[in-house]
Amino acid sequence: MGFCWPDQVPLIFERSRKGRRGTLAPRREADPAALFGAENLRKTPPALPEVDELTVLRHYTNLSRRQVGVDTTFYPLGSCTMKYNPRVLEEAARLFVGLHPYQDEGTVQGALRLMFELGEYLKALTGMDAITLQPAAGAHGELTGILVIRAYHEDRGELKKRRVVLVPDSAHGSNPATSAMAGFEVREVPSDADGEVDLEALKRELGEHVAAIMLTNPNTLGLFERRILSLTEAAHAAGVQLYYDGANLNAIMGWARPGDMGFDVVHLNLHKTFATPHGGGGPGAGPVGVKAHLAPYLPVPLVEKTPAGYRLVTDRAKSIGRVRSFLGNFGVLVKAYAYIRLMGLAGLKRAAALSVLNARYLKELLKKRGYRVPYDGPTMHEFVAQPPEGLRALDVAKALLDEGFHPPTVYFPLIVKEALMIEPTETESRETLDAFAEAMGRIAERGLADPEWIKGAPYTTPVRRLDEVKANRRPRLRFGHRE
Ligand SMILES: *Cc1c(COP(=O)(O)O)cnc(C)c1O
Repeated sequence: MGFCWPDQVPLIFERSRKGRRGTLAPRREADPAALFGAENLRKTPPALPEVDELTVLRHYTNLSRRQVGVDTTFYPLGSCTMKYNPRVLEEAARLFVGLHPYQDEGTVQGALRLMFELGEYLKALTGMDAITLQPAAGAHGELTGILVIRAYHEDRGELKKRRVVLVPDSAHGSNPATSAMAGFEVREVPSDADGEVDLEALKRELGEHVAAIMLTNPNTLGLFERRILSLTEAAHAAGVQLYYDGANLNAIMGWARPGDMGFDVVHLNLHKTFATPHGGGGPGAGPVGVKAHLAPYLPVPLVEKTPAGYRLVTDRAKSIGRVRSFLGNFGVLVKAYAYIRLMGLAGLKRAAALSVLNARYLKELLKKRGYRVPYDGPTMHEFVAQPPEGLRALDVAKALLDEGFHPPTVYFPLIVKEALMIEPTETESRETLDAFAEAMGRIAERGLADPEWIKGAPYTTPVRRLDEVKANRRPRLRFGHRE
């Protein structure tokens, strides 16, 4: 069935009319000049939109109805784990809205206990000895983890010679970016014919000049690195620290642990795996777990359990310091904690298994519809397909919008031409996966028969093909924006 946009009325952004009001300012009870100092008061009123409440309500409601999101449709955006996050967890997060980060420790024991216990759960799931919950995103966790590794080498007097971070060519773009930002030289390690890290090539790069390896597992092709133990063993023999990008933990949680694979550092994306929606620029959390030898370098504050209660520890001589204000995105931590308590270990294992089953099922359906899977190995939570010869990934993605689906990630990873990176997640039903495969089949068939049609898609959206670079680099987000 076709997809119908709910509102074809053109959206007018500038709705301000002089003198129109939607709110009443609170009665002024104190003299602002006395409060803030006369020199700090504005001389001219701020340029704010003047709109009534109903106009504001309609504007945002209409905007929201034009969104394609997890709440409206299947959203198989590879590497992003766009699963359904139970609404009850939002309620859990709301229990804590009255807290303030400057409150005395004695008055927030429950919140500190929650953070402590969440850390314990995540340590158990990753096989790590210590953890920080502070980083606000996956990439932020990466930077934190690499800075910890840097501090470790520096402490041992080895930082001067260990200047290189090795990153596989299939890595998430944030991995090389992180390494460069932390001051290291990035060297790329190729993948082999199976899409896994080329172990021999990696071994040739190892040596005293290497500080760390950053690895994503399952990798961005959705494949589990089968030689992971040989890899970590060889790296450790050369004094190299191993960083595990755990953003894809959804596929393996409860089944396999980065710590057991030999890794020294791992970051997790709570806003993928643990029940906070990913995307839209909302708050996230990227906790970083480390093995005992790296624990002294973790950022402060850490939550400690003492016989007298929970407390925040800030006096740690070797710590890399603070990486974020206060204690991180606490609401995200609450949701992750509640999710883990709700699911239990058995539930988390089942979610991981279903995410793999869904990906493998959809992969087989798409192969029957003419899509190619160049690295058809042990698929975990996602896979990378290519459209039938002659079709472009971008055109397939645009045509999917007319079918009512959010497109998959396209043109990533870079090692696959015309890549469609598809991650169905565990929360989708078989009916949804079947319907998506049908739609992909229709698009392939019609696109091959009628190239002009597919180049023109989408046809049913309020806007068609955008200048994506401009939309990204120069968005108009402010009232009264002038070019
Ligand atoms: C999403 C993702 C990241 C980055 O996480 P952000 O929270 O978006 O910064 C890093 N690595 C991989 C493999 C990812 O999928």
